[in-house]
Amino acid sequence: MAARRSPAPARTQRLLTLPAALSALAAATGLLCGSALLSPAMAQTASPAPSSNTASATSTGDPALHAQIETRAKAAEARLIAWRRDIHQHPELGNYETRTAKLVADHLRKLGMDVKTGVAKTGVVGLLKGGKPGPVVALRADMDALPVKERVDVPFASKAKGKYLGKEVDVMHACGHDTHVAILMATAEVLAGMKDQLPGTVKFIFQPAEESPADIEPDGTNIWGAKQMVAEGVLENPKVDAIFGLHVSSGIESGKLAWRSGPAMAAADQFWIDVKGRQTHGARPWGGIDPIVVSSQIVMGLQTIQSRQVNAMLEPSVITVGTIHGGNRMNIVPEKVEMMGTIRTYDEGMKKDIHARMKRTTESIAASTGAEATFRVVELYNATVNQPALTEKMAPTLKRVAGDGNWMLAPKATASEDFSFYQEKVPGLFFNLGVTPKGTDVTKAPSNHSPEFYVDEPALIHGVRALSNLTVDYMTMAQR
Ligand SMILES: [Zn+2]
Ligand SMILES: [Zn+2]
Repeated sequence: MAARRSPAPARTQRLLTLPAALSALAAATGLLCGSALLSPAMAQTASPAPSSNTASATSTGDPALHAQIETRAKAAEARLIAWRRDIHQHPELGNYETRTAKLVADHLRKLGMDVKTGVAKTGVVGLLKGGKPGPVVALRADMDALPVKERVDVPFASKAKGKYLGKEVDVMHACGHDTHVAILMATAEVLAGMKDQLPGTVKFIFQPAEESPADIEPDGTNIWGAKQMVAEGVLENPKVDAIFGLHVSSGIESGKLAWRSGPAMAAADQFWIDVKGRQTHGARPWGGIDPIVVSSQIVMGLQTIQSRQVNAMLEPSVITVGTIHGGNRMNIVPEKVEMMGTIRTYDEGMKKDIHARMKRTTESIAASTGAEATFRVVELYNATVNQPALTEKMAPTLKRVAGDGNWMLAPKATASEDFSFYQEKVPGLFFNLGVTPKGTDVTKAPSNHSPEFYVDEPALIHGVRALSNLTVDYMTMAQR
């Protein structure tokens, strides 16, 4: 792996501007979950037709259970916010979430659940058996933070440091996973409080390393996060019938819910390109082969794949070169250049086709100059696909919880989520919760992964209400 080692964040920052460095860092971590769940501009155009946003609060489920959820969620709200602030102030990178995991495990044990710890390194799984027989519903929260230095002016702002692939970095919950943990802890409290009346079992999954691990580098052979939890049997014993999860988003107004059926978030792949030229004096480039110029041609060539080669009407796709490193002096043509980037797709066939075209483009451009180039790709996360049948079945619940005018059809996002690994095994629904304060222009709000990412805390209770209601409605509907 040494030859293909990801460039360290420090090097990245030296070569790029700060925003570019942050995106490169995010690219290096493999994905951008949440950040573009809704790009703000898209969110604005994504309002549903008025007819679809009014009538649909149906009588799905059991009104007595719904009423209990409301009361219990309200009662838990102050603790929900306190947990969120505590976790926010103590963020931990992927696979290092030991403090967070302990907080979660202690809480679940206090609620009387069977608790498993150390799942996929630091994951925690709690099992709540309802008083009546019924299906098994899994609810998932991711626990990890990002290598970002917080710039939000709140008393509980993070000053934490962590280790990212061996280097010390600042750490921040810039993707809002602190809120996911707090929301699921409060949901556990709500549902545990009404356990005797629950017709089914709830599996609470607190997952590490959604953003990719900070202790190992993805190399195509190792696994982490959701994939590892699934491999360790998190969806078995008891077997999960359906899974729900949420992500907070800066692109939506506080408290609003958004979702879509089918492919909702993109598959994310990471690629590496090494270009080998021949070193020479910068004043006499004809004496060597300049890998910097070749790399520039490759970067431009890759951009013609989406724009000129694949069917633009099938599905969108993105190829981003996030890092480019080569040379150490103005008058030396260097020996080699290393590049790294990400690919986002929604269609499996199109993904494989793009990989083949990228390899051909890279190698052919290099060969045309006498240089040598290698292309290597690792498939990190598959597309997040909300099962249409489950989405249709549960949409009335989300609409009722959100209320008229407070939900919307989410556009496809080019961000990725390893929630997809659960959805490959069991029907799953992943939705978004808006956290940008009302009155703020969502098109200008700092996005997830930004050092200024801000969460409007009154939104969080709606996450608890949504997850709790999805759980009881799914169980109630299974009784019929
Ligand atoms: Zn995220
Ligand atoms: Zn993220």
